[in-house]
Parts: sequence; structure tokens; C-alpha cells
Amino acid sequence: MDLGLTRLRAHATAILVAASAALAGAAAAAPFGGHHAPLIPAEACALVAVCAGVTWRFGERFGDFTIVGLIGTVITLVALTASTGASGPTGDVLLLLLPALVAACFLPLRFTVAALALCSGAYLWVVAQTMTFGPAALWWLSATTVLASASATVVVLRHELTATLVELSGLARHDALTGLVNRREFDERLAEELERCSRTRQNCTLLMCDLDRFKHVNDVHGHLVGDMVLKRVARDLLAGVRAIDTVARVGGEEMAILLVDCASADGYEVAERLRRAVAARHEDGPMVTISIGIADSSAAASAAELVGAADEALYAAKRAGRDRVGYGERATGPVLWPA
Ligand code: GH3
Ligand code: MG
Ligand code: MG
Repeated sequence: MDLGLTRLRAHATAILVAASAALAGAAAAAPFGGHHAPLIPAEACALVAVCAGVTWRFGERFGDFTIVGLIGTVITLVALTASTGASGPTGDVLLLLLPALVAACFLPLRFTVAALALCSGAYLWVVAQTMTFGPAALWWLSATTVLASASATVVVLRHELTATLVELSGLARHDALTGLVNRREFDERLAEELERCSRTRQNCTLLMCDLDRFKHVNDVHGHLVGDMVLKRVARDLLAGVRAIDTVARVGGEEMAILLVDCASADGYEVAERLRRAVAARHEDGPMVTISIGIADSSAAASAAELVGAADEALYAAKRAGRDRVGYGERATGPVLWPA
């Protein structure tokens, strides 16, 4: 599930690549430290800087392998720059911490482990250039411990954050009482489906359902029983359509059903079946009926028009006595099928 992190990942990687190019460029332009001559030509630094710009602009489309390749490039540049001895062993750990953390934040675990191993190997190479065996081994051990524990902390936090975001995103799109999707999710799915219909020249059908005299149910039996009835009707509606259809709670006791790849004649069959199923249910509280309005995407130029036509048909069904299915045609006004 994309939680909007691809742009953040692209930008974080681009900043990292740009920073490593700047660092290597500075070392190439003004060699300092003195242990080695700079190992990276200025042209290579310029090329990496261009990569940073491309990543900033197009990085959202990059796959995991491309991002891990860029992080590998950063680690290589940092290691080559650090091998001049300019930043010192502590500075080198900090420089290698950044690519390790970007990998831990944005890449799958196996790539995070690979980036960590690369950072640790790069650090080993750097200290091997600048120290004798004993101190080099100690520095490498402590640097690897720091890199590994920082990466592990980020991975755990990221896991928790992702789980929370997934949960919140589910809550933001569902109705707490019935578990059906809510109006916001329904509006999005309807817009997508209408766009698909106009592209593929297919039809979808909208059923607008409203419980009949539900206020009376609440008045007589109380709100808790009313809630139970709402849940029961939601279950019946869900059970009566295909998995690809959408059943949403769009108002207090109003539910909308989007039947994909379905013309209004087939939609009528479905609506009639649902109406009968709800009316036939006696267990779990008082018996209720629903009225349903049908509208077909072929007769509507927009989502608002389709919803308006289904609403019109629903009111016609209500006016005609409730517990029935109405069909609204914008040109001729509502026409009712017999109940
Ligand atoms: P009609 O046949 O014309 O639709 O009559 P109605 O009584 O169903 O219509 P009305 O809009 O007057 O009443 C809707 C009722 O639905 C009023 C409100 O208390 C009830 N309602 C809305 N949301 C909930 C809910 O979440 N739980 C319960 N128990 N009742 C709800
Ligand atoms: Mg009602
Ligand atoms: Mg209503």
C-alpha cells in the first residue's frame, strides 16, 4: 500500500545523493587531510549531482533496485572521500549513518541489510587505509554496532508507523457502525468507475437505498435496536452483491450500491432481490423495508448527475408507497417498476 511515502523517499534519496556529490566535489577541488590524493574526479561528482536532480524530479517512479543503487553510489563516494582521512573515524561513521538510515526508512528489509553491510564494509576499508590492525578493528566494531542499532531502531519505528497508518487509512474510509465504506471512499470509487466506464464504453448502475420509516423504528424500539437493524441491513446488502461492487453508508440510514459492469435492467434485478431479502428478514430485531432508486451511468454525464438521478428515483419509490424499486430517467421523469 502506497501511503504517500514514494515522494518522500525520492526526495530523501536525492538530497543524500546531492550531499555526497557536494562532499566528494569539495574533497576533489581542495584536497585536505593529506593521506591520499582525492580519488574522485570532479566530472564524476558533477555526474552524481545530475543524478540527484533526476532523482528529485523523477524518483517517485524509481523501483527499489534503483534506489538501492543510488544509495550504493553514495556509500562508495563517502568511502572514497573518507579515505583521504579528512573527516576522521567519528566523522566517517556519521557520514555512513545517513545512507544506512535512508535505506532503513524507505527500503524493504533485505535492502536495508544490504545497505548496512555495504556501510560496514566501506568503513572497514576506510579504517584499514588509515589505521593499524588493532585500532582499526575496534573502530570498525563500534561503528558497525552504531550503524546496526540505529538502522534496527528505524526499522522497528517504521514498522509501527506503517501499521498505524494502514489502520488509520482504513478507519478514515469505513463507517464505524456498519463496517461499510463511507461517503468519502464511495465518492472516490464512483468517480474512478465513471471514468473507467467512459473509457471502455461500459455501464455501471447506482442503487440508492433508504430504510423506510426508520425514525419510527427508533422511536418504538430505541436507538440501540435501530443501530442493530442498520448493521443487519448493511450485512444483507453486502451479501447480495458481488465482491467487485461497492456498498457504502452515505447517510444516516441511506446506503448506496455501485454495481460495476451492469446496465439498469440487470441493476433492477439486483435491487429487487435486495429489497426482498431485507423485507424477509425477521431475526435480530424488528422487520424493516427499504426503498431503492436506480440510475444508470449511460444517462448521466457526471457523478453528481448519476447520484441526483438515483435520488430522484428513490423519492419516487417513497412517494409511491415505499418498499419498492424506482427508476429515474432525467428526460421523462421517474418511472416505477411494479412493486
Ligand atoms: P422515510 O421512509 O421517508 O425514509 O422515513 P424515515 O423515518 O426513515 O426518514 P427520516 O429521514 O425522517 O428519518 C431517518 C431516521 O434515521 C432519523 C434518524 O434518527 C435515524 N438515524 C440516522 N442515523 C442513525 C443511526 O446511526 N442509528 C440509528 N439508530 N438511527 C439513525
Ligand atoms: Mg428513511
Ligand atoms: Mg433518509
